[in-house]
Amino acid sequence: MTRRFEFEKLGQDGKARLGVIRSPRGEIRTPAFMPVGTAGTVKAMMPESVASTGADILLGNTYHLMLRPTAERIDRLGGLHKFMNWDKPILTDSGGFQVMSLSNLRKMSEEGVTFKSHIDGSRHTLTPERSMEIQRLLGSDIVMCFDECTPFPADPKVSMESMRLSMRWAQRSREAFGDRPGHALFGIQQGSIYRDQRERSAELLKAIEFEGYAVGGLAVGEGQDTMFEVLDYAPDMLPEDKPRYLMGVGKPDDIVGAVARGIDMMDCVLPTRSGRTGQVFTRHGVLNIKNARHQDDPRPVDESCSCPACRNYSRAYLHHVFRAQEMISGMLLTWHNLQYYQDLMQGMRGAIAGGTFDQFQSDFHAQRAQGDIEPL
Ligand SMILES: [Zn+2]
Repeated sequence: MTRRFEFEKLGQDGKARLGVIRSPRGEIRTPAFMPVGTAGTVKAMMPESVASTGADILLGNTYHLMLRPTAERIDRLGGLHKFMNWDKPILTDSGGFQVMSLSNLRKMSEEGVTFKSHIDGSRHTLTPERSMEIQRLLGSDIVMCFDECTPFPADPKVSMESMRLSMRWAQRSREAFGDRPGHALFGIQQGSIYRDQRERSAELLKAIEFEGYAVGGLAVGEGQDTMFEVLDYAPDMLPEDKPRYLMGVGKPDDIVGAVARGIDMMDCVLPTRSGRTGQVFTRHGVLNIKNARHQDDPRPVDESCSCPACRNYSRAYLHHVFRAQEMISGMLLTWHNLQYYQDLMQGMRGAIAGGTFDQFQSDFHAQRAQGDIEPL
């Protein structure tokens, strides 16, 4: 096993890329989907179950972990991998995005952000330097630069100022990260929906040099059409030989569209959060297990799925435990959704390897257009 962090592109079909990230914690097959383990757990899942779906890497949230139980405590207890019993790679975000979406009474300056915790109102400061320190204490394998996620919509002037601040913070993040063999720091491209700003941001990041590059500031309410318009050019501005990560995406069709445009890594709470609210992803689209049509249905959610929810339980049972608010409902549906997402990634990797990614996309959309199986 390697002691370094490295990315190898193994194939390409159109713009879709097949690759592998090698790190001391293990290999990450790309395109990769990262389940979100917000507070040191992928909700409703045991870590070994997450791994069994085919996930090579998890995402942890700096904002949540710094507030509770704190990065210093996790460090004293041996780091996040040991603490949560996940020995494969972990990517942590910088905390910046969730400060903006969750905390109270924020104050932004050139230095960083001061805010009050949404848990107990305590006061905290996040700067590029502090974010790097927290992510180091957690033991993160892939560390994200501290940046400002430009709100949407933003006029060109606001977006430009925000992007330039993020690029100054990217420089400070690089300097604070230091020399840590086997660990990676990813820069984050900003620039909203403005092509010239995306180009400028990419140039500034490439001059600093990172082990990987994220496309930031998307999936913030702009809609799929606009997101795809930006993805038609933004990933091409980033280095060919480094992984490209689209943050916070997304729905299955967003993911397929992003991979088609040259994205290698994604994360989203959708499969796990939806599992707890009865939304189930299948090849045929989304179904709601709460719906009365399932209450007498002895068939599995998806007969082709290998997850325990589909192998061992009927739609009728899943409907019942959801309605009865039994914990096994969230456990089974989360497992199924994560299995669906990982199977989707595996399907795309196979298609890119075989040069059949166009066909894969046609089949993907055709199956979804069919809708769920007919009621009994
Ligand atoms: Zn399943």
